[in-house]
Amino acid sequence: MPSTKKENQVTTLDAVVIGAGFSGLYMLYRLREAGLSTRAYEAAGGVGGVWYWNHYPGARCDSESIYYNYTFSEELYKEWSWTSRYPEQPEILRYLNFVADKFDLRKDIQFQTRIKSAHYDESSNRWMIRTEDGESISATYFITGVGCISTANIPNMKGLDNFKGDWYHTGHWPHEKVDFTGKRVGIIGTGSSGVQAIPVIAKEAAHLTVFQRTPQYTVPARNHPYTKEYIQQAKENFHEIKKTIRASLAGLPTPPSDRSALEDSPEVRQQVFEEAWKEGGPAILFSYADLLANEDANETVSAFIRSKIHEIVEDPETAEKLSPTYYYGTKRAIIDTDYFETYNRPNVSLVDVKKAPIQEITAQGIRTTDAEYDLDVIVFATGYDGMTGSLFKMDIRGKDDVSLKDKWENGSAVSTYLGIATAGFPNMFMITGPESPSVLGNMPVAIEQHVEWVMDCIQYLRKHDMAAIEANADAEQAWSKHCRELADMTLYTKTESWYTGANIEGKARGFQIYVGGYGPYRDRCTEVAAKGYEGFSFITAANTVV
Ligand code: NAP
Repeated sequence: MPSTKKENQVTTLDAVVIGAGFSGLYMLYRLREAGLSTRAYEAAGGVGGVWYWNHYPGARCDSESIYYNYTFSEELYKEWSWTSRYPEQPEILRYLNFVADKFDLRKDIQFQTRIKSAHYDESSNRWMIRTEDGESISATYFITGVGCISTANIPNMKGLDNFKGDWYHTGHWPHEKVDFTGKRVGIIGTGSSGVQAIPVIAKEAAHLTVFQRTPQYTVPARNHPYTKEYIQQAKENFHEIKKTIRASLAGLPTPPSDRSALEDSPEVRQQVFEEAWKEGGPAILFSYADLLANEDANETVSAFIRSKIHEIVEDPETAEKLSPTYYYGTKRAIIDTDYFETYNRPNVSLVDVKKAPIQEITAQGIRTTDAEYDLDVIVFATGYDGMTGSLFKMDIRGKDDVSLKDKWENGSAVSTYLGIATAGFPNMFMITGPESPSVLGNMPVAIEQHVEWVMDCIQYLRKHDMAAIEANADAEQAWSKHCRELADMTLYTKTESWYTGANIEGKARGFQIYVGGYGPYRDRCTEVAAKGYEGFSFITAANTVV
C-alpha cells in the first residue's frame, strides 16, 4: 500500500543510482567515497541485479571466475576466493553480498523500491525521480545501472492463464527450491539460459520436453574446481590480470588469434578446433580472427560444431534437429555442461516449434500445430527485452519533457554518445547503455570502466563548477553511425537474435552494441575526457550553455 508519508516526502541527494547489481554497487561505492550524498534504488529484496533473479537450475556465468569480478580493489580481490572455473549463480550472489558488506553499501540502498519516473527540470538542472510507492527524490545526477538483459520476455502465448500447472521464467526464478521430482516439465527456449537449465532439470524431472525454435551452437565449458594454488597465483598476479583484462577486446586475458581460419589447411584447422574444444569455454570463438567477420571462415567453425553434435547425440534425427545453420557466434556463443548429451537420456524429448509452432497453452500443457503435450510445469527460457527494455520501463524525460522512449522512437532510433549519455538528457549517465560494448565481453570489466569514467566526469563538473553536462547531438549522431558501420562489417547483423531486437514482437531491429572491443572503446572514452569532454556541452551554475 502506498504510504502517505512517502507521498509527501522529497528527499534531496547529489546522486541517484538505479539498481544494486554489479553496476549499481560500484557506482554507489565511488560516489559515496567522493563525498556525494547518494542512494541506490533496487526493485529486488537484495543486492545482485540479474544474479539475484537468475536463480534457475544450472545458472552459471560463462566468464572465468577469476576475471568475473571487480578489480578496483586489490584487497577485495585478495579476500575473495572462487571455487570453480565458471562461477554458479549462488556463488556470484554470495560474492556481491560480500562486496556490499565489506563496503557497508546496504545502508545506502533502498530495496524493494521500483523507480517509476525520472524527469529533468531545466530551471534547476535537477532530476526529479519518483518511486512506485510515491516517494520523490531530487538529485543532480541520475545514473542507471539497470542491466542490459534484465527485462524478461514472456511471449504472449494464448491460454497461459488457463494452465493448471506452475510456470516460471528463468529470469524471475523463485528463491525457494522448485522441485521437479516426478514432474512432466516443458521448457521453451534454448539460449544461454535454456542450455544451462535443460541438463539439470532433466536429471530431476520424470520427463523433460524441450520446445526448440532455433537450434544452438554450444561448446563444452569444461568446468572444474579451482585448486588453492591456482587461486593463490591469480591473487599474486592481481595487477597483471587487471591491466590485461582492462586493455583486452573482451575483458578476458586470452588474446584472440590474428590468423584467418582460411589461412590454415583443413587438417590444421581441425586440430586447432579440436584443441579449443578440449580446452572448453570461449577458446573456440577466439581460435581465429575472422570467425565473426567472414562467412567462409565462420562456416569452418560452424561445421566443426555441427559434426560434434552428430558425434555426441545418438539418435541421428535428433542430432539433425539440434544442428544450427546460422553463423556461429552471431547469437551469443554458449558454453555448456552436458547439453547435447542430455538428449541421449530416455526422459528427454525434443520438439521443433519452428516446424510445428506452439498454438496455445492449454489447461494441461502445450499444444503445437501437430500435437499436444501434457505438462505439470512450464519453464520459459525465452530471454529478455535487451538493451532498452529496462530503461523503457521507467518514464525518463529530459529537456522539453521529451521522453527517452519517444526520442529513441520506441527503440528504432536509439542514439547515444559513447553508450553513456544521450542528447537532451543532461546529467543522466547509463552504465553499459546501448552502443557501448557491454554484453560483448566480460561485463564487470565494462562496468568498472563506465563507473570510473562517470565518476571522473562528475568530479570534473564539480571542480569546474558546472551544473550539468549534456551530449551534443552531432557527436551522438557520429557515434551511432560509427557503431552501425562497425556492426555492418561483422556477421552479427546477418542473424536474428536479441542483439538485433528480433526476439521481441514489434520491437524495431537494430544492432545497438559497439563491436570494436573493450580496449579500443576505453581508449576513445579516455580521449574524450582528456580533450575536456569533447562532444559534450556544459551548463554553468548560472544556467548558460558553454
Ligand atoms: P535468449 O538467448 O534470447 O534465448 C531465448 C530462447 O527462447 C531462444 O531459443 C528463442 O528462440 C526462444 N524463444 C523466445 N521466444 C520464443 C517463442 N515465442 N517460442 C519459442 N521459442 C522462443 O535468452 P537467454 O537464454 O535467457 O539468454 C539471454 C542472454 O542473457 C544471453 O545471450 C546472455 O547474454 C545472458 N545469459 C548469460 C548466461 C551466462 O553467462 N551463462 C546465462 C543466461 C543468460 P529463437 O532463438 O528462435 O529466438
